Amino acid sequence: MGAYDLLRLLKPEGLRAPPQIYRALECLIREGKAHKIETLGAYTLCAQPCCEENGGAFFTICRTCGRADELHDPALSRLLGKLSRRSRFKVEKAAVELSGLCDDCSHA
Ligand SMILES: [Zn+2]
Ligand SMILES: [Zn+2]
Repeated sequence: MGAYDLLRLLKPEGLRAPPQIYRALECLIREGKAHKIETLGAYTLCAQPCCEENGGAFFTICRTCGRADELHDPALSRLLGKLSRRSRFKVEKAAVELSGLCDDCSHA
């Protein structure tokens, strides 16, 4: 969901200004209750209760229907950690987003 879709939905609740929405989203993201999907500029509620302990979230994004699924793989997180140490780069944020076709769309 994009911030402007949220804005439209929340208008009847008294939320009007985009900055309010962004602040609320940043807060949800900090608390680990939502994620930003950078590729889409959209937001999604976290699908996993222990997201961070499971090594953070990765996404598969279907380019046809726009479906985004949240994945976790501790091995991938460890690999990213190893790469960051090896390249002496302090990673603050990693967005792993795989674009392609979902199961439904690849069989359509
Ligand atoms: Zn999550
Ligand atoms: Zn699809």
